[in-house]
Amino acid sequence: MIKQVSTQGFEPPAMGEPYLLTPGPLTTAYSVKQAMLRDWGSWDGDFRAMTAELRRRLLALTGDRKGEYDCVPLQGSGTYCVEAMLGSFVPKNGKALILANGAYGLRAAQTMQYLGRAHTLIDKGDYLPPRGDEVAAALDADPAITHVLVIHCETSSGILNPVAEIAAVVEARGRKLLVDSMSAFGAIDLDVGNIHYAAMVSSANKCIEGVPGFGFVIARKSELEAAKGNSHSISLDVHAQWAAMEKTGQWRFTPPTHVVAAFIEALKMHEAEGGVAGRGARYTRNRDVMVDGMRELGFETLLSDRWLSPIIVTFFCPAHGNFVFSRFYDLMKEKGFIIYPGKLTVVDSFRVGCIGRMDEHVMRRVVEAARQSLEEMGVDTAAPPAHAIAERAKLAA
Ligand SMILES: *Cc1c(COP(=O)(O)O)cnc(C)c1O
Repeated sequence: MIKQVSTQGFEPPAMGEPYLLTPGPLTTAYSVKQAMLRDWGSWDGDFRAMTAELRRRLLALTGDRKGEYDCVPLQGSGTYCVEAMLGSFVPKNGKALILANGAYGLRAAQTMQYLGRAHTLIDKGDYLPPRGDEVAAALDADPAITHVLVIHCETSSGILNPVAEIAAVVEARGRKLLVDSMSAFGAIDLDVGNIHYAAMVSSANKCIEGVPGFGFVIARKSELEAAKGNSHSISLDVHAQWAAMEKTGQWRFTPPTHVVAAFIEALKMHEAEGGVAGRGARYTRNRDVMVDGMRELGFETLLSDRWLSPIIVTFFCPAHGNFVFSRFYDLMKEKGFIIYPGKLTVVDSFRVGCIGRMDEHVMRRVVEAARQSLEEMGVDTAAPPAHAIAERAKLAA
């Protein structure tokens, strides 16, 4: 049985549930869950008003003061929305440059393959960031490229990619930028005044702290208009979803009504916390408290501080012979914390998320739980193996 000590800040998860230190689904507030205790008719005016509020509130987070952008919610998980964005904005005779440094970038490339549309890939491996100069070189070398897709926070390593630097290069060369800001939007600035993207995607269960069930595309209205007829798919056609919503205020197919209700409550809480800046500040404190504490135990992060996102952090597994990740996972879970396995291909690692309904007091308890878990395993230092450190040195090179 999990014992939850109440925290100074937020209420703990209900009924002894563990905290989800994962990048979505994540720990949500009671009031977000409570918002789902009612049924809505999808056609009814009450729900149409909720859809309008959802779109308005999301647009308010973009920094769009000129009314140039619009928001199109879409059923499904984040991947559905990435596929919808690629299929709707990259025309059949277009070509996309996909910037990959982890699983989500590679998935976007795979999506282009499924779509049968022209694309080219810069694959930086597990975690090295794509940089402006190499994007510039790729665009100069291939005039057929019409669009560039960048992952804002690559959740598989937790790296915060240099989106502003890449956006500037893409714009200077007259190409269009698509952003997968799934795990960043709402906590990390993506102001359209600074980053002139054509379209971006995120989903309900990441930094806005809703429950899973839909995602949303935010795009320039001119791009939404131009996207007519591009899509390969009826359900993933962003133009058609947008046009129908503009006309009727409704989703084209059954919307996840309860998820939308929960999301509106989550958006209100996001606003009360101080919007993107407030949410980002809490996640940054969560990360700093957690990373400092873990480093004191001897753990080391994959990334140097410059590239660490406030979303999720990758740690090397300790070199100590007694350390077994699955046992560490179970011991952490017993103490009330669900951590996340790593996704690196060359070294053993695990990840700890900083997002969701929790604050620095919770993160201090995460570190204490890690300390106790190591002790129970008979691991007296969490220092990583030498080859992990050697791998990391590539980042500085
Ligand atoms: C979560 C996430 C996605 C979408 O994943 P789903 O499992 O389909 O929700 C896409 N890109 C990034 C960067 C993500 O973090």
